[in-house]
Amino acid sequence: MLKRLICTLMTFVLALLWGGNLVFEAYATDVRTELISRKTITDKICLISEQIRLLISDQIPLKEKLSEQTTMKISEPPKFIPSINNNEDWMLTLVNYNNPLPDTYKPVLKSLSNGLQFDARAIDQLILMLSDARAQGLSPVVCSAYRSVEYQQKLFNNQVKKQMAKGLDRQQAELEAQKVVAYPGTSEHNLGLAADIVSLSYQHLDQAQANTAEVKWLTRHCSEYGFILRYPEGKRNITGVIYEPWHFRYVGIDAAKEIMESGQCLEEYLEFKESALAKTSSTTAAKVIR
Ligand SMILES: [Zn+2]
Repeated sequence: MLKRLICTLMTFVLALLWGGNLVFEAYATDVRTELISRKTITDKICLISEQIRLLISDQIPLKEKLSEQTTMKISEPPKFIPSINNNEDWMLTLVNYNNPLPDTYKPVLKSLSNGLQFDARAIDQLILMLSDARAQGLSPVVCSAYRSVEYQQKLFNNQVKKQMAKGLDRQQAELEAQKVVAYPGTSEHNLGLAADIVSLSYQHLDQAQANTAEVKWLTRHCSEYGFILRYPEGKRNITGVIYEPWHFRYVGIDAAKEIMESGQCLEEYLEFKESALAKTSSTTAAKVIR
């Protein structure tokens, strides 16, 4: 009887211990799962806050920023590439990701009243455009104009350092940096014919700039002074640059009027010109043969 009682007690104690262990295991698994899921959530929160921080610091609109993360493919360069040494074409010099300027490129410059510099051959047109806008009661502000390739290199290197500090290797960091700062020599600001113009009351480089009275007026009238909106909406696959309602480029009055009226970007316009030129020369050749 006593033996049976001891046996039952032992079984009970063992069952209790085994059961307790099971409960503990289950609890531990729960804790582990909880910890793992908490870590995943923390990681996700970090990732999201990092993206938000990047968006705020870079002042690039969310839609554009996210699309930049998915693709950076830039279309084939147009075949017609005007030479920077050809005086006839200086106004149409193409500078983009596929057409960099040489490191040594330095135009003759003149200064605006705020000290920023612009190509001396086109600065009068820029000043006239700004003063005509002011005469309409507007307050345009040139916040960026000429930048030397050297200075562009500095901006680029700083961005690479920033990316490397996040743990990226140099190659990855350079790719990331290119999404925010143009590669040295590939910025139109290195050419001296581009100006970023914003409203005095709204000095942010984001798409809302398009809604300011200043940029609205400039977009409507810039071609009269030989300027174009260089990076229009919907042309990013060709220009390689997001929509920049504040970036104006001097190309001369004739080309500016054609470009702004046709809705083409500079790359498309130059390609169109080249094919028109090719047609003319083939017609001339045919006439000679006859
Ligand atoms: Zn610009």
